[in-house]
Amino acid sequence: MQGRFVQQSKESSARKESPALNQQFLQFLHINENDLAILARYREVLQQGKERFARIFYDYLYAFPATAQVLEAYQAQGNHIEHLVKRQTEHLVELLSGNITAESAAHMMYIGEVHYRYNIEPVWIMGAYWLYLDHLQTIMASSSAIEAQHRAALEDAVIKLLFRDMGMLLEGYWNAAFLALHQEKDRVSELQSQVQSMLRNIPQLLWSVDVVSNHLLYVSPTTRQICPIAAEMPIPCLGWTVPSDRELVERAWQRALQGERIEVESRVHSPGGSERWFRRVFHPFLSAEGKVVRVDGVMEDISDTKETREQLRRLATTDTLTGLPNRMLWYDRVTQAIAAARRERGRQVAVMILDLNHFKIINDTLGHPTGDEILYSIAQRLRTALRETDTLARLGGDEFAILLPDVKSGVQDAGKVAENILACFSEPLWHEDNEIYLGAAIGIAVYPDHGRDVDTLVRRADIAMYGAKGSHTGHLFYNAETDTNTAQRLQLSSDLRHALQRDELELYYQPKVHFSSRRMKGVEALLRWHHPQQGLLEPGQFLPLAEQTGLINSITEWVLKRAAAQAQAWRADGLDLPIAVNVSPRTFQSPRFVEMLRDALSEYSGNGALLETEITENVLMADIARAQEVLGKLGTMGVATSIDDFGTGYSSLAYLKQLPIDTLKIDKSFVLDMAHNENDAMIVRSIIDLGHNLGFEVVAEGVETAEVMDLLESLGCDYAQGYHIGRPMPATDLRTWLAGGGWHL
Ligand code: C2E
Ligand code: MG
Ligand code: MG
Repeated sequence: MQGRFVQQSKESSARKESPALNQQFLQFLHINENDLAILARYREVLQQGKERFARIFYDYLYAFPATAQVLEAYQAQGNHIEHLVKRQTEHLVELLSGNITAESAAHMMYIGEVHYRYNIEPVWIMGAYWLYLDHLQTIMASSSAIEAQHRAALEDAVIKLLFRDMGMLLEGYWNAAFLALHQEKDRVSELQSQVQSMLRNIPQLLWSVDVVSNHLLYVSPTTRQICPIAAEMPIPCLGWTVPSDRELVERAWQRALQGERIEVESRVHSPGGSERWFRRVFHPFLSAEGKVVRVDGVMEDISDTKETREQLRRLATTDTLTGLPNRMLWYDRVTQAIAAARRERGRQVAVMILDLNHFKIINDTLGHPTGDEILYSIAQRLRTALRETDTLARLGGDEFAILLPDVKSGVQDAGKVAENILACFSEPLWHEDNEIYLGAAIGIAVYPDHGRDVDTLVRRADIAMYGAKGSHTGHLFYNAETDTNTAQRLQLSSDLRHALQRDELELYYQPKVHFSSRRMKGVEALLRWHHPQQGLLEPGQFLPLAEQTGLINSITEWVLKRAAAQAQAWRADGLDLPIAVNVSPRTFQSPRFVEMLRDALSEYSGNGALLETEITENVLMADIARAQEVLGKLGTMGVATSIDDFGTGYSSLAYLKQLPIDTLKIDKSFVLDMAHNENDAMIVRSIIDLGHNLGFEVVAEGVETAEVMDLLESLGCDYAQGYHIGRPMPATDLRTWLAGGGWHL
């Protein structure tokens, strides 16, 4: 520390040479030989009472808290105050010695520097000199050793030398302060140039805007590389941003002004004309009052990151061998296509699974690399048979998948595409000089007929593909009737056979209510199966199987009997509740259907008012003559009939009028969302009007909310059924429900 200080002392004396300064001091203070002579004469006298002075000095230092504190710090560093006081006394002696050489001046300056280093303030220094003066004046005024005529000259000399001494010390002090200031300045400017060069080198663009006065506080040099002309306010480079992205950036800016730290990505034109992706981050800075006063921003070129992300995405969604979409992407697209078809009625989605025939032989005989080449060529060929909007994917091995996202007539359109695809295989493939003939089998499943979700559709297309392979037909559509081959289905259908004997079936009843009378007007019987392993199954889980296996007729027989018995039991109990039974297509077509119904009622003196039937419109339209005949017979038995799921099939109005039916039941798909879907609401309104014009009553099923309930009432609908009113429930629960709800008999 001391060493460094000496070093500094040398530097500072370079600023003002001590000899020159000393010379100036001597001149300005008029210090001359006479002063030195008189001082020499009385030096001894003036040195009297050194010890008294030491005490005065000591008291002075401790009299002020500030100096006392400095001294304590001085002591804490291991120094002794006595030593300091002794030095002061010595200094006094030295001062009185009349040494006015340049050397002594340099020494005083050095002491001044030391004082600066120890934070001894100039005012304390002056205080100390005042003590010297006071002490010496006392001596000069009172000592009899000083001749009277010498007193004034002596005092004059003493004051001059004290001035010189103090002045030199303060010069040193000021030199040190000046030097420190300069060093600090140098350090700051070095730091500044480091920061500057860093800002020039970092690719990010930094800026800061005062949002109160709306002016730019700072823009880093890199800005010019991105937007060379103007860094517009308040969002730098906004003018260089692609116009369609600007709104996004401006919206983010507004949010930053609300105090939110926000990021936004947008495209910016580069001066070269190309477009690059940039991320802007806005960091709002809040005042103590919590108001946004400044927004700092970072802007960064992320084109490469974006590109990498894109590459990763491509890798994750592409089959590397053929460059086609992979399974993941294909599933994704199928899901999207299904979602789109759900929104747009009448739109169908076809899903195909294509498997090459005997491809294993090629791999085995020509080797895998050749097999891969052939797969690649096939992929290219298949592509030519499809439209831009279709998706061809490789699922793995020799299995491909095709998605036709929008077909009008699923079976016809997809059939044609399948033919085109198979035609790709009529020309041979070449490997070296070998002609290779390959064939393929295609299985097709169409949304919504063959399934309503990706997994079902793919599974069913797969089943159809195996069917096509087995029967050597090029392509095959999924056919529920032939789809009985899986072990699981066999198991379930055998379970279902036993279900009847083991009494595992149960009917749940869902209330149907009449708007204008506010009364409950009947119930619909909905079948449930208490499967011993799988728990409670709903009709969708086992009725299609029952249809395929023909078991449905025995089941309907059971349902009719059970329902008739229940309706009779309620009647005996004072509840007049006709039960509507759903009649499946196969049962309706069965020549035994009318007989079944008659049998069920026969135990209750053929009272047709106990039961009603619900039949879907396609079943009725399929064979109008038969429908008229069967419904006519039901009518004479007193059994009313509704057309179930009305609106989803294709009814001919002309035929509808000819059928002896009573009620239209609007399919729940229109009702569920009618409060929020204008299209659905319009369809419901039209069906209600149409039904009334034809003289039918209209039931809406799938009423889940009070809102829909009100809407239906305002549209003049006659009956409602749905979870909002009551869920399907066991017979025993119906009484409780009746007691609790707002509906009466
Ligand atoms: P469905 O005849 O159109 O019956 C209405 C279906 O909608 C029932 O489903 C019922 O639980 C459900 N549902 C009722 N209210 C609401 C609602 O507010 N919101 C929603 N989302 N759904 C509601 P479930 O019981 O699963 O029956 C499905 C279909 O199975 C029935 O449609 C019917 O076609 C058939 N089915 C049920 N029982 C039998 C039966 O005994 N024999 C025959 N052949 N078919 C039956
Ligand atoms: Mg029904
Ligand atoms: Mg229905």
